[in-house]
This record gives sequence, structure tokens and C-alpha cells, in this order.
Amino acid sequence: MDTTALLNCELFLFDMDGTLYLGDDVYEGAVELMEDLPRLGKRYIYLTNNSSRAGTDYIGRLRRLGFPCEPENVFTSGMATGEYLQQNHPGARVYLAGTKAFYRELVSYGIDLVNDELGHTDVRDVDVVVQGFDTELVYEKLDLACHFLRRGATFIAANPDWVCPMPADEVLPDCGSICALLTASSGVKPFYIGKPNRAMIDVISKMTGIPNERICAVGDRLYTDIAVAQNAGSVSVLVLSGETTREMVDAAERQPDYILADVAELHRILKEQA
Ligand SMILES: [Mg+2]
Repeated sequence: MDTTALLNCELFLFDMDGTLYLGDDVYEGAVELMEDLPRLGKRYIYLTNNSSRAGTDYIGRLRRLGFPCEPENVFTSGMATGEYLQQNHPGARVYLAGTKAFYRELVSYGIDLVNDELGHTDVRDVDVVVQGFDTELVYEKLDLACHFLRRGATFIAANPDWVCPMPADEVLPDCGSICALLTASSGVKPFYIGKPNRAMIDVISKMTGIPNERICAVGDRLYTDIAVAQNAGSVSVLVLSGETTREMVDAAERQPDYILADVAELHRILKEQA
């Protein structure tokens, strides 16, 4: 295995569920890897497509599980949306259909939101509609978003997931499903920010000053964690500790750059070369 591309990476983006832990069960060696990365000269970010929760919610959860985590180590698709709006739509007037947590996140990025935390507004014209994984959805938000989109507002969605997996084989309708409703009613399709779309890595690259080819995405899902790296020209590491089996990788059209058993193996490779 030629590990050159992997070792050249300065920043590692980690998926969480199926990569570092499963539910509340932390994988062996996962905490040790994260604690050791600074010593190995590597930066890291915990990356999630979930735009219903704030970055700070993840800091608490990760620390409870024993992982090192500072505010700069967490990045959600909601935060990526804030960065993206700052970088690409400066000064835009934005209608947000999302949770209160997402609302406060966008406020912290200085985004000019026309609505309040609950989605109310009297404004009848905006530049951008942002849709999130809105677990606090009410009809008024759909009504307003549809109204703005039909009048030419740009449609941006935090993450493309159709459903959010839950225990006991349940799912929650996610951002992609809400967007499908809005597309059906307005005729407008969204620009998605979260994995597998390269925007997620592009904004991190701009934010950190690290070029895409020196960023490595580590995860257990081919169609999100690995695809985002491939779409952005970054390095990809698939770990077989989550939902992808060896047979599934073999059948994949495009192979990840590296296929490892788990993050403990990634740690061994990084340590050997240090
Ligand atoms: Mg995962």
C-alpha cells in the first residue's frame, strides 16, 4: 500500500457513527487516535450532515464518550451552510426553514435572516431560501419557502439526506425529503451543501487554508463519506467498521483511495511513518 497521499494530508475529516463509535459504543483505538493526532502533526474535524443540531451539541456528546473536542473540531452541514452563505452570498437576505439550533448557528455567522426562530416573517421578498433538517417543521415555513422560491429566490439546502436513521430500523424524514416537497410545489431544485457534495470540503478548505488534496475524509459510507472526498479531489479512507462490507466496496464503481479495517489501523499507519 502506497501511503504517500495519506501521510501528506494535514487535515482529517471524521465521520462519527460507524467510524469512531456505534451508538454509545466507542470503537477500540478511536479515542487514542484522536488524542494522538496533534502529536503526529495532523489537524482533525468531526464532520456531520445533521443540520438539526448545533455544533455545540456534538462537543458535549463527543466529550461524554471520551473524545477530545474543542469548538474548532466540530463541523456540521449547518455550519457549512453559514460559511457558504458568507463566502458566496455576502449580504443576502435569507429565509431559514430550520430548527432553532440551526437558526442560532446562522445568526452566529452574521447571516441576515428575515424570519424569527420559529420561521415567522412579514417580509415578502428574499434573496435566498435555506432549508435544513427541520425537526420543528410547521406548515407556515413550507408555505413561505414555496412563496419565496416561486419569486426567484436561490434555493440552498444544508444536507441531501432523504432520511435520518434511527434505532430499531426507524427513520426520520430528513432535509432531502422536505426539499422534494418544496421542489414539487415551486419547481425549483436546491443546491445541496452537505456530503457527498464537494461544497462541504470546499468551505473547509477556504476556512482552514488547507488545499483539498491535503484533506482526508474518513468514513464508513461509500455514497457520502467517500463520495465527498472523490467529488472534492481529496483523499478518501473507507473503514469497514460500519455499514460497508468488503463485498460492497468490491462492487463499487469507484474505489476509495484506502480501505482499512477500522480507525485503529489508520492510527498504526500514521504512527509508523511519524
Ligand atoms: Mg457513518
